[in-house]
Amino acid sequence: MRLFLASGNRHKAEELQGLAAAAQLPLEIVSAAEAGGMPDVEENAGTFVGNARLKAQALLAKLPADSWVLADDSGVCVDALGGGPGVESAYFAGPQHDAAANLQKLVDVMRPVADDQRGAQFRCVLLVLGPGEKEFVFEGECRGRLLRAPRGGAGFGYDPLFVPDGHEQSYAELGDAVKSQISHRARAWTKLADWARTESSRT
Ligand code: IMP
Repeated sequence: MRLFLASGNRHKAEELQGLAAAAQLPLEIVSAAEAGGMPDVEENAGTFVGNARLKAQALLAKLPADSWVLADDSGVCVDALGGGPGVESAYFAGPQHDAAANLQKLVDVMRPVADDQRGAQFRCVLLVLGPGEKEFVFEGECRGRLLRAPRGGAGFGYDPLFVPDGHEQSYAELGDAVKSQISHRARAWTKLADWARTESSRT
């Protein structure tokens, strides 16, 4: 099965293709560039699923009728912030999507929050859209807590501030080998992989 990835990020397509190959999945992940590029999408649905659907629909509209599309959306949801920044994680500190500024803002807004109130979870939605408006949604979560200051050099985004449950180190200290086993994205991907295996064994 070919899945066009509804993202302007070529690296994401390569990373997902690597995961699919490593798991010997019957999936070919194709970047949106091969479909003429990812259209601009205003991600204003207010939910991870809704935003992923907007991205998937925008790319699917450019493709032949029998095509399948994969879209993702993710973010960090902080208990003390009522679930924020959530769908606004990428532009928490402003529309310029500055990861360092976003991280610093989270440090700042969490400063008054007590140690036992610093729970948070990363969430990831993977959404597959196909012919006849067939839709499959796979969600992954990783619960943990936020540090008071960033730690570690690996990863991206809010990784240096987040310590997953069952660990003492941040995502950024644990590095990709551990993160790829326990992360919100890995958990959503495992569900998608199970679906892909079942789907291909039926066709
Ligand atoms: P999107 O899913 O590409 O729209 O990105 C959502 C935003 O959530 C990113 O810009 C990051 O700020 C944050 N985010 C999502 N997943 C992770 C992660 O695994 N580590 C750190 N930050 C993340």
